[in-house]
Amino acid sequence: MAADCPGHPDALGTSRTLVVDPREHPRIGTMQYPETLPLEDHEVVLTFDDGPLPHNSNQVLDILASQCVKATFFTVGRMAQAYPEGVRKLRDAGHSIGAHTQNHPLSMNRMPVERARQEIDDGIASVKAALGDDAALAPFFRIPGLSRAEGVEDYLASQGIQTWSADFLADDWRHISSSRVYDLAMKRLEETGRGILLLHDIQARTVAALPRILHELKARGYRIVHVVPATSEQPATPTEPQQWQLHPPSETVAISHWPKIPNFVFAATDPLPAPALSDSYWHDDWPIPVAETSDRGKRRGVPPPRQAPWPRQTPLLPERAAIALPAPAPSVFEMQDRLRFALARASRPAEPAIAAGPEREPDGAKLVAADTGASRRTVAGKPHLERVRRASASDAGGRVTRHATHAGRRALKRVVQVRKRSV
Ligand SMILES: [Zn+2]
Repeated sequence: MAADCPGHPDALGTSRTLVVDPREHPRIGTMQYPETLPLEDHEVVLTFDDGPLPHNSNQVLDILASQCVKATFFTVGRMAQAYPEGVRKLRDAGHSIGAHTQNHPLSMNRMPVERARQEIDDGIASVKAALGDDAALAPFFRIPGLSRAEGVEDYLASQGIQTWSADFLADDWRHISSSRVYDLAMKRLEETGRGILLLHDIQARTVAALPRILHELKARGYRIVHVVPATSEQPATPTEPQQWQLHPPSETVAISHWPKIPNFVFAATDPLPAPALSDSYWHDDWPIPVAETSDRGKRRGVPPPRQAPWPRQTPLLPERAAIALPAPAPSVFEMQDRLRFALARASRPAEPAIAAGPEREPDGAKLVAADTGASRRTVAGKPHLERVRRASASDAGGRVTRHATHAGRRALKRVVQVRKRSV
């Protein structure tokens, strides 16, 4: 690790190389598939998409080189055509190179399979052309935008190409700060504990975040794994199927795979003998004449008991209930004034503007005592108090509305006056 990184004793390094056979595991990345790379806890695989774009991709290469970290790059065919030297730099630095379509369409989940195939084939051809060496391109592929589609994945699998999703993202294509990229990468890694991280080497914020990410990976004890495809000379790293699951079932965690009910219970078809009355748990405390048994009981030869063996409940007499339950006091049904206001306000629609002049209050009408004293005070002694009082006799809510309406009108009037003056 550090020893393998001359001149950088504190480097993160690459802890091991994992050789995978795409034909055995054609779809990986738990963001979309059941399987992911067979990583140990605290092992991370770095992937970079969409390059090469010289300025940023070269900086990413320099940062990775300074830490002796090997990654996988998913290059876009059009970018490889524009910057073939950039693709060769990836190879020369010892990274794995996968394909990422020709034009990076974000609609592979919707486009006709024929067009998707064309994108895949053209992208692979462009990267191979840039490398000048077919074997230098790994049979790894990432669908742009992770817009997966069964037809696309099936085609890739038929070509012996492994479809790579991811286990976690750092959202580095979004308009966020580089420190946010760092935060998301570390936070999500802490949640998954290991996995494939998807980054973009064309993004300046990724370039800015990467040194801190690598430093923190080292500080927190994470290890980098470099993934390469199996060849005739280099066979796949031996693995167990459950290692390809991010969270394989554990013996200490309860799972809902219940054992199947065996068939032997239903295998015997011979009728069982009817139980004797003396075998029953309630036994025979009730002498049962045979004549009283039901037809069903007769047929089976097991007469039912005349009476249920469990105790009966004592019926409640209505007159006893009346005595036992006192009539509720009238105070139970009294409503608090504040609650009455709220109910009245909620149940009545807004009343029309005040039309009536001062009139005598109807007999029995009273101002309802409440904590709206402040409202009353604002109109105390003014002619319209009577109107307010009248309204409040039947509807306290309406009274509040009137105050508001009146105040609003006064305010409006003032605005109009001011405007007139200013004009
Ligand atoms: Zn992409």
